[in-house]
Amino acid sequence: MTATIIDGRAFAARLRDRIGAQVRALQSAHGLTPGLAVVLVGEDPASQVYVRNKGRQTVETGMASFEHRLPDTTPEPELLALIDRLNADPKVHGILVQLPLPAHMNAASVINRIDPAKDVDGFHISNVGLLGTGQKAMVPCTPLGCLMMLRDHLGDLSGCDAVVVGRSNIVGKPMAQLLLGASATVTIAHSRTRDLPATCRRADILIAAVGRAEMIPGDWLKPGATVIDVGINRIPAPERGEGRTRLVGDVAFDSAAQVAGAITPVPGGVGPMTIACLLANTLTATCRAHALPDPEGLTP
Ligand code: NDP
Repeated sequence: MTATIIDGRAFAARLRDRIGAQVRALQSAHGLTPGLAVVLVGEDPASQVYVRNKGRQTVETGMASFEHRLPDTTPEPELLALIDRLNADPKVHGILVQLPLPAHMNAASVINRIDPAKDVDGFHISNVGLLGTGQKAMVPCTPLGCLMMLRDHLGDLSGCDAVVVGRSNIVGKPMAQLLLGASATVTIAHSRTRDLPATCRRADILIAAVGRAEMIPGDWLKPGATVIDVGINRIPAPERGEGRTRLVGDVAFDSAAQVAGAITPVPGGVGPMTIACLLANTLTATCRAHALPDPEGLTP
């Protein structure tokens, strides 16, 4: 078998087009422009790239982008005061504080200071609780993107055996909640799972969110399984020249593509969907702030 490639880049581009059209409709019907505030503390190079991409794509979909860059010596109360101002600002519908934060800050208290209705990352404890109890929540972007791709590829997920490898608060756990909400039968595997290969082989849907390069080979997969590879790992690539590197997922793509029915590549799979879902959440937050119905097709 040679798997269908689930093209996250193309999917994300279509999603951004749909969001752009919905933003224009919201502007003409209600005079509303969704606004996303992104806060970056410090100079982490990877975070700077993410923040730049987020700002660019926000503007491209017709939303307002507000960037706040603070030095990494910023005292936590100063960051909390900025979040309070953004919470109170009616032009700001979504707030994202780029993680990781400098070591002197408590990420949980910072995230929990964001108004849950503006928490477009879905990390606030209230949104975690709402998702866990099956209520309307702001849903973390990466798992939301995975769910959208799964629905697009498989349609109804009800009754499918889904295995999520990884139990982090930002990917594994919310992914499992979303799959449960879609009536899949869900197993969460982690570093203490006794027989990971056998657990993976049961999966109609396998989500890999571990952070270990090419850890899951093709012979751990059920033939025909749908594989969503969240992992982003940088490995040496001497074949590209001395000191060069390349990105790979948590799944060994070449062997997995011989067994799976469908698979997301790395790069070009889950990654592009994450920012697109951030824009989707900002639009959803804007509609909810104005008591309008949720935008079509952007929520679980
Ligand atoms: P974490 O490090 O927070 O969690 C990793 C999870 O994997 C843990 O639950 C851990 O188990 C489990 N794990 C580690 N080793 C093994 C093993 N040998 N067997 C089984 N399970 C194992 O990572 P994140 O969830 O934050 O991220 C996971 C990956 O996804 C990373 O590569 C990250 O870069 C990527 N990522 C990609 C995004 C995207 O947009 N595409 C967004 C977010 C993350 P335990 O709890 O027992 O320690």
